[in-house]
Amino acid sequence: MSTLEIKDLHVSVITDDAPIEILRGVDLTVTSGQTHAIMGPNGSGKSTLAYSLAGHPKYQVTSGSVTLDGQDVLAMTVDERARAGLFLAMQYPVEVPGVSMSNFLRSAATAVRGQAPAIRTWVKEVRGAMADLGIESEFAERSVNEGFSGGEKKRHEILQLSLLRPKFAVLDETDSGLDVDALRVVSEGVNRYRETGDVGVVLITHYTRILRYIKPDVVHVFAGGRVVESGGPELAEELETNGYVRFTGQPGGVT
Ligand code: ADP
Ligand code: MG
Ligand code: MG
Repeated sequence: MSTLEIKDLHVSVITDDAPIEILRGVDLTVTSGQTHAIMGPNGSGKSTLAYSLAGHPKYQVTSGSVTLDGQDVLAMTVDERARAGLFLAMQYPVEVPGVSMSNFLRSAATAVRGQAPAIRTWVKEVRGAMADLGIESEFAERSVNEGFSGGEKKRHEILQLSLLRPKFAVLDETDSGLDVDALRVVSEGVNRYRETGDVGVVLITHYTRILRYIKPDVVHVFAGGRVVESGGPELAEELETNGYVRFTGQPGGVT
């Protein structure tokens, strides 16, 4: 069993002017084998949390801690975080012109596994994972995310997830911009990953609809840069009905 523990995390975003504090004391503990949903209104700091876990240089941790099985994640480089078993799917995946998807995936797998996967089994593995996600084989030779539609980028994130098999996956709005068919395919990909073993998923989302496909064990409400309430799946149902108004004081639905 593994544990990802975030304690009283404070993070500021670096801007051209003074840094702005966005995360104001995030507390969150996720154990492998569990799926946690983090739900919050736009601008509440959900992506800032994802970027901070990823080690993005624009986000400065001012206090608090993040540990993975007791190891200090914040002291790790981006590569070390991946090798330690942390995977982050970004809300806006970056385009990498000139690097083919197949080279990218192989380099990532080599870095995370500590050795290059044997070529024949690797090719089979990639083809299988692509087929599972309905990704056409031509995509293997296209530059990473370049000219991909929103849905294609999200599928590609889940392709990485299925090949890298991290201990913990943080998925930032993997559901946004997907039509219902793509949502189902992507959710099935996440569910297959969950079935691979003792893994933990942090599903960051604004909307409740993905939770019909990926059932969370714990639901957290995120507002004003921290977790303000935690509960079971019934908390998501309450949000679907009432929106975030109870937590923000401002009206606005979530479905
Ligand atoms: P969410 O993902 O919940 O919508 P974000 O983490 O993207 O929220 O943003 C949280 C807040 O931080 C927002 O008010 C946003 O405008 C602000 N913010 C994020 N990045 C920057 C930045 N680079 N410069 C200034 N403000 C930022
Ligand atoms: Mg605090
Ligand atoms: Mg966001």
